[in-house]
Amino acid sequence: MKRSLIRRFRKIVGPERCLHSPEDLYAYSHDCYARGNPELVLLPRTREEVSSILKLAHKEGIPVTPRGAATSLSGMTTPVRGGIVLAMNQMNRILEVSTEDRLAVVEPGVVTLRLHQTVESVGLFYPPDPASYSISFIGGNVATNAGGPRCLKYGVTRDYLLGLEVVLADGEVLRTGSRAVKDVTGYDLTRLMCGSEGTLGVITQVTVRLIPKPETKRTILTTYRTLEEASEMVSRIIGAGILPTTLEFMDQAYLRTVEEIMHLGLPTEAAAMLLIEVDGFEETVERQARIVEDFCRRFHVLDVAVGRDPEESDRLWIGRRIGTVGLMRSSKFMISHDATVPTSQIPRLVTETHRLAAEYGIKLVILGHAGDGNMHPIFLLDPDNEEEMARFHRLSREMFRITVECGGTLSGEHGIGLEKRPFLNLQVDAVGMRTMRAIKKALDPKGILNPGKFLDEEPTSPGR
Ligand SMILES: Cc1cc2nc3c(=O)[nH]c(=O)nc-3n(C[C@H](O)[C@H](O)[C@H](O)COP(=O)(O)OP(=O)(O)OC[C@H]3O[C@@H](n4cnc5c(N)ncnc54)[C@H](O)[C@@H]3O)c2cc1C
Repeated sequence: MKRSLIRRFRKIVGPERCLHSPEDLYAYSHDCYARGNPELVLLPRTREEVSSILKLAHKEGIPVTPRGAATSLSGMTTPVRGGIVLAMNQMNRILEVSTEDRLAVVEPGVVTLRLHQTVESVGLFYPPDPASYSISFIGGNVATNAGGPRCLKYGVTRDYLLGLEVVLADGEVLRTGSRAVKDVTGYDLTRLMCGSEGTLGVITQVTVRLIPKPETKRTILTTYRTLEEASEMVSRIIGAGILPTTLEFMDQAYLRTVEEIMHLGLPTEAAAMLLIEVDGFEETVERQARIVEDFCRRFHVLDVAVGRDPEESDRLWIGRRIGTVGLMRSSKFMISHDATVPTSQIPRLVTETHRLAAEYGIKLVILGHAGDGNMHPIFLLDPDNEEEMARFHRLSREMFRITVECGGTLSGEHGIGLEKRPFLNLQVDAVGMRTMRAIKKALDPKGILNPGKFLDEEPTSPGR
């Protein structure tokens, strides 16, 4: 980028928030999947600054990649075409929490956990809980329509959005939705922006719906001899009219790999483990937990443990919460897919993915949000081994083909980004792609917003 142009961007945000030293550019080149070098990093503090940056970038045809906490697992945040990284971490104010209207208005750089804690301190609840919630930002959650373990009962980020403020590619400011819970005025632009992966606009303000905080919860941990028994239990619980907050699945490979590294006392002889949590009023929670426990004792599970209070419950979560840290330690590189299928198809997806991993010689463990069929096959890889990465690519294509055949989707929550772009045609046909590209063209005619990602026709190979 020309020095004269850098000077014009620097004038908008001031010298402290305009970064271009090699160290700064490197620090903003990564997400959790890939890397690509930006030419400039800008840290706006206001909507007006974002608008001025985009007006200039639009005029000059400079790529702009919006960036939250960069926890993307699919290379959505990687600036693959250079240009500007627009880092939203300084727009981090909680502007309003209304107990009367049960809503909060926040800037995009608010850490998800901070929003949880702030609203819970006044008896309210913001359910979406991506496992990255202690670092991810609300803006990133909206741009990816993030889900999480408790989304089985409560839904995903888009279910809690009332309205957005978005700066469009040409710098114009779009306001979507309202403060009302019901709103059918015109096209649903809030939902269009949600999950758009930074390709349609830069989110500068988010209004979220809140619900009353559940009074209490119980956690039940159960282990199974076979995958089918674990899967039957999922159907049994949901069939009994119980909608758990979470229904987390871990397979034997996960239990064994994590146990080998972390020595947590996990049941490595089990074919699968389910972590079930129910929440609500004390009386109903007690009753639901008893029904689940009875099912587990009646239907041949290997073992059942019940967390009777929050401390015991937290202990039961340890294997699930910190297990991925162990996996990161055990390999150079980890790719977590998020293929999602109807719950009846979970055994097929799990069995077939293990078969493919054995056939292609790739190390695999599987976790998942079993209640909503959102599986996380986690592949442990060496990114410097090109031949292994090529084998992995072939495996992924096969796995996604089976996922779609099962009536499922390539991504339940991590999005497409760079990583799943080569597989998009397995699920989205030519009409679907044409429609998406028409929307992109209408809102970003010069294609400056997050270029090189899922809608691009030109191939982009990521660095790592
Ligand atoms: C350990 C771990 C666990 C995870 N668990 C989950 C999980 O349970 N569920 C889940 O859904 N995801 C999960 N993820 C993936 C990731 O955390 C989510 O996608 C998250 O929502 C990304 O938020 P972020 O702030 O890090 O966004 P980033 O990674 O910075 O950005 C993600 C995308 O959003 C765009 N973007 C960011 N901010 C804005 C903005 N203000 N305006 C417009 N576009 C913007 C970016 O351009 C990019 O395309 C996990 C990741 C990790 C590392």
